[in-house]
Amino acid sequence: MKNINIAVDGPAGAGKSTVSKIIAEKLGLMYLDTGAMYRAVAFKALENDIDPNDYNAVLKLLKNTKIDIKYIDGVQHIMLDGKDVSESVRRHKISQAASDISKIKEVRLMLVEIQREIARQNSVIMDGRDIGSFVLPNADYKFYITAIPEERAKRRLLDLREKGQDESFDEILKSIMIRDENDKNRDFAPLIKAEDAILIDTTNLNIEQVCEKVLSIINISKE
Ligand code: C5P
Repeated sequence: MKNINIAVDGPAGAGKSTVSKIIAEKLGLMYLDTGAMYRAVAFKALENDIDPNDYNAVLKLLKNTKIDIKYIDGVQHIMLDGKDVSESVRRHKISQAASDISKIKEVRLMLVEIQREIARQNSVIMDGRDIGSFVLPNADYKFYITAIPEERAKRRLLDLREKGQDESFDEILKSIMIRDENDKNRDFAPLIKAEDAILIDTTNLNIEQVCEKVLSIINISKE
């Protein structure tokens, strides 16, 4: 049977990953959070005191960097040079660094190759910024999930608090808006709604309602 590929894009904090995980579970698909891959490269840069905006230093670092994805009990783990960094990459300060480092074309091309290979070999729902527009232009289904920045900041704040990280609403909102700007305006593979992607504004929707919408469009059953 042909592999099914579903692309889910949108700005930070729109609910992409929560929705994608639920859909993956319901339809028996693999879930790939591509943001974790950019975060892992950014994490390595910071660990090595490298400015994520320093093109030459990042290129040098990239040559000795190995990113892998592992699934343990169905949960994605991000491996950086053989070490599991899944927890460390979620820290708030990594978010901005990931957004900066993801502007570098060579970083993107290295990670996109891994993402495409996973999609070739598996039925997958993949979330990110450029999945429908660049990574998987022929995906079977494409969604663009968004919400107003204040709502996204509110959700991110709750998320971080649950993980024991204490940030202020204003700080999160500011960082979300900077990341939006960065992600939408970079030269190579920016955040953009693919023409054939279905737009879902989740500002006034809860997770169940968003999943219902997505599932009503996807016409496959759990094999
Ligand atoms: O999705 P998440 O917020 O974890 O992603 C962190 C950063 O990685 C984003 O702000 C974005 O700059 C970058 N990213 C990207 N392309 C993707 C996924 C993430 O540029 N496909």
